[in-house]
Parts: sequence; C-alpha cells; structure tokens
Amino acid sequence: MPLDRLQRLQTWLVRLLLAILILLAVVVAVNVHQGRLTRRIISRRLGQLVTLPGLHRYQVAVIAGHRGFDSGAVCDDGLMEVMVNEPVAELVAEALRKEGVGVDVLDEYDPMLDGLEVDALVSIHADSCVDLSGFKVTSGEETVIPEQDAQLVQCLKTKYAAITGLPVHPNTETSDMYGYHAFQRVTDNTPGAIIEIGFIGGDRALLTEHADVVAQGVAQGILCFLDREKIEPTPDG
Ligand SMILES: [Zn+2]
Repeated sequence: MPLDRLQRLQTWLVRLLLAILILLAVVVAVNVHQGRLTRRIISRRLGQLVTLPGLHRYQVAVIAGHRGFDSGAVCDDGLMEVMVNEPVAELVAEALRKEGVGVDVLDEYDPMLDGLEVDALVSIHADSCVDLSGFKVTSGEETVIPEQDAQLVQCLKTKYAAITGLPVHPNTETSDMYGYHAFQRVTDNTPGAIIEIGFIGGDRALLTEHADVVAQGVAQGILCFLDREKIEPTPDG
C-alpha cells in the first residue's frame, strides 16, 4: 500500500476512535445525568473490568425460604410463606444484578450451600399469619467473623426499615434463626444473615402487593454491606 494511502487510513482510524470515545462519553454523561449510572455502579463496573472477564467483583447467594422443601407457614385462605418468599428473592437478585453483583437464588436446602463461599448469604423468610407487624434480622450464633455478620445485619435492618417503613419486631428472633442450618453449611468466611421480611398476617399487603419495595429494602441492605457503608448500630441492636 502506498505511503500516503496508509497515512490517510491512519488519520481516518484516529478520527473514528475519537468519534467513538466522544459518543461513549456522551452516553455515560446522559446516563449519569438521568440517574441510571451512579458512582456506585461505575466503581463496581470498573472493579469488574480489572477482575477476569465474566467474573463479578461480588458474588451473593439469596435463599428463597422453604423453596424446594416445604411451604412454610400456611394461612387459612391458602396463602403459603414460600409463595411470598420466592418472588421477593427473585426481585432481590434482579436488583443486585443491575448493580453488577453476581447472584444465585438458592433453594432452602440447596446442594450448592455445602462449602459455599460468597461475599454475603441472605436467606429470605416471612413470619406467620398472625395479625402482627414488623421484621427481624439475625446472623448465626456461632461465627468466626462476628464483626462482618453484625455489619450485614445492621445494614439490612437500617435499609429495610427505611425503604419499607416496617419497624423491627422486637425480641421474637427464634433459635430457628440463630441456629439456621445454612450458616453451618457455608464456609466460615461467608457472612450470613436471615431476614423475616414481615408477618404474612399483619404485613400481607406490603409483602404480596409491593414485593418490589420489599426486595429493594433487602437489596439495598446487601449493597450497603458490600460497599462497606458505615452504619451505626441502632439502640435495639
Ligand atoms: Zn420460613
């Protein structure tokens, strides 16, 4: 190829590259302006770029409480706990994936739990059909990472309460929660929490008609933990 043609091609390629870069900058600017791209998403995406392609910077496991095992609580009208938990778990996963987090939604006794090591494990359950209101979050009793577990619990409590408007239901955490089976099956280094997202009785409208709000509360709690957001402990612990 003659030299001048080569030079023209080179100039043309440089211009094309510049045009692409400008276009990219405009697209990013518009998305940032419209709130679709936040600093958090950009930093997470950049984090993914420096990890291996296809690998997420953070990996989270969400358990759809009772799925694949039993129904959980069953109300007089036939509404089952698992029917409440599953859509919420799927919406939590969807919200986290939008933020660049890798997510698996697991069954209650999912074989994947054995030796699982992720950045956070959160199990989603709902309370009984009684006419009470409120949610609760706990981590495992026996843990080698108490500070991380406490931070995950605190993030979930703070964000969930703020987004759903539900209060913490005091002093009704059960041994089922502290001694939750999944905490024993994952590796010691996996921070874990179980959340009872509300009572199917008193909080039914929120849990069934506004599952997206419920899921946002859980997802923002998980993101708060992953992003090491500083959350001060509330008086109720
Ligand atoms: Zn349950």
